[in-house]
Amino acid sequence: MSPEEFRQYGKQVVDWIADYLGSVEKHPVRAQVRPGDVRAMLPAHPPEQGEPYEQVLADMDRVILPGVTHWQHPSFFAYFPANASGPGILGDLLSSGLGVQGMVWATSPACTELETVVVDWLAELLGLPAHFRTDSAGGGVIQDSASSAALVAVLAALHRTGTDGRRTIYVSSQTHSALEKAGRITGLVAGDVRTVDVHPETLEMDPARLRALIEEDVAAGVTPALVCATIGTTSTTAIDPVRAIGEICREHGIWLHIDAAYAGVAAVCPDLRWINDGVAEYADSYATNPHKWLLTNFDCGVLWVADRKPMIDALSILPEFLRNAASESGEVIDYRDWQVPLGRRFRALKLWSVIRWYGAEGLREHVRTGIALADRFAELVAADPDFELRAHHPFGLVCFRPLRTDALELMERVNASGKLYLSHTKVGDEVWLRLAIGAPATTAAHVDAAWAALQAAGRRISPGRR
Ligand SMILES: *Cc1c(COP(=O)(O)O)cnc(C)c1O
Repeated sequence: MSPEEFRQYGKQVVDWIADYLGSVEKHPVRAQVRPGDVRAMLPAHPPEQGEPYEQVLADMDRVILPGVTHWQHPSFFAYFPANASGPGILGDLLSSGLGVQGMVWATSPACTELETVVVDWLAELLGLPAHFRTDSAGGGVIQDSASSAALVAVLAALHRTGTDGRRTIYVSSQTHSALEKAGRITGLVAGDVRTVDVHPETLEMDPARLRALIEEDVAAGVTPALVCATIGTTSTTAIDPVRAIGEICREHGIWLHIDAAYAGVAAVCPDLRWINDGVAEYADSYATNPHKWLLTNFDCGVLWVADRKPMIDALSILPEFLRNAASESGEVIDYRDWQVPLGRRFRALKLWSVIRWYGAEGLREHVRTGIALADRFAELVAADPDFELRAHHPFGLVCFRPLRTDALELMERVNASGKLYLSHTKVGDEVWLRLAIGAPATTAAHVDAAWAALQAAGRRISPGRR
């Protein structure tokens, strides 16, 4: 494809995306296909001769779109949001256009240095402590996901223990499965990922139980390596008591990782910085995902560390083919040593585009809008005696359940309608529905319509009850 052909098709692709985003509401939110439907529409064999690009675009409409679940639909309320935005998409396109592989500084200095600047900017926007900034002993790095960030934290923490003996990490029953996976990948056996009980109502990790488990393990000759505290759990956005957990970690010299994958970005609003209480004093690492609620297309997860040395010691291996004068001078950062893979995309471009387009004010506005809409939905639920609301909803997620109908049946009904899409969780034995607000296109009208659809579906399942 020549640059002129690229210009021609590139304009068509941008038009296609603009049309898609402008009309996303006309699609059913959840894909209406059955397993195998998409495959059945695709040829089993690759083309022998090249095809005109028009045919690819035509198949986007004919084959791909019907099999897409529309995450940018204003009535997508499942899981957590995966925000896309104009500047995020354009930043990603610019990254693709450059085609840079930024494994070390020398393979593209701008890829490294822009990343340093934007992760420092983001630390400032979130009010994170100065020791997470690159001009200190710590620093930030863009990873593909919060799972990778957790894996890097576990690797650094295990390395920092200075022993190959039996080591443990501590999570709660509400911690994301990424931590257990990180334990497996790093060779811990299942029992060495210790699960701490949570408070039955708030679902916060119980610091007294954490202390007891740690003391038991230390007495048994095991080395506790890391505790993961979560700010905004995936299930219900519970917030672990970071300060109390941090004090225990400090006493025992244990690495404290903070998983704030979804909720951390809420700290762009100064009135929400309380969520990070204890982080400045105690956290060794902190992860949040601009690709969830901060308008930056997947993938973009940021990991900060208070001290980069244990991480680099754990991850740096220097093969001959990567030796270069800049790295040896010690004057540059080689982010390959801050992540598991060697290669890395120029992800900083999309985060830079997003921050510059929206500015701090625009980012705050986006988060505030999501929270206000969640509060609005929560009020509607609270006013209906046929539903129960979970009290805690500081962010964009509202958990609730129908009292007179089966929650899963209700959810399946509304999801199958294609009008909205929500997901569920389990707290103890109870099924709760999760309505997560945060798509930039979502307005009060969409939230009200979602509630009306839920109420109507509830009435249809239990006729005569109301
Ligand atoms: C979403 C989420 C993760 C996983 O994020 P990825 O970036 O998809 O790996 C981890 N922890 C929490 C609390 C999450 O909400």
